Amino acid sequence: MHDSGDPLGDLVKLLVRLPGVGEKSARRIAFHMLSADRDYAQTLGEALATLGERVRRCASCGNYTARELCALCADPRRAGDVLCVVARPADADAIERARVFGGRYHVLHALLDPLGGVGPAEFPLVPLMERIAREGIREVILATPPTVEGEATSLYLAEALRSAGVSTSRIASGVPHGGDLEFVDPITLGRALEGRRSL
Ligand SMILES: [Zn+2]
Repeated sequence: MHDSGDPLGDLVKLLVRLPGVGEKSARRIAFHMLSADRDYAQTLGEALATLGERVRRCASCGNYTARELCALCADPRRAGDVLCVVARPADADAIERARVFGGRYHVLHALLDPLGGVGPAEFPLVPLMERIAREGIREVILATPPTVEGEATSLYLAEALRSAGVSTSRIASGVPHGGDLEFVDPITLGRALEGRRSL
């Protein structure tokens, strides 16, 4: 990086580009780095600098890993015939933390977004369909986000999977746990009603 003569200001400019970090937090972090012990800042810097080299995409599911196969794909206790399809590694991580899914994941790293330059030709459908055929996947759960692109991707995948004879479902979008119904947006509430199940 070229020397602007303002290393603290440069760091703040880099930090505000992080998700969820505003100008005020960025300044706090920058000042903390100066007052914290040097080893910490050094270790953090090295961890960031080498992250891209040490982390790659799992050869099977596309999730981030340091090895050829991620821990979930390498785990023989996971069901090998059920796939949960997600848009991003962070989504697989969130579902994993809920501890309700015992199959494997497939990370798209993309959503169908023709206006944003990802049409059917650019969308990574082929690797998913090849994996399904290769691994004998029977069931696919579509867990793309409840956004316009996420829904479009889900519909597109559902059609391709139906043609391939794979049982396909879409995660329900529901009401947050511990929340008040009056504060839930109408679309979410509508979907929660549509996706109701009998007790
Ligand atoms: Zn994997």
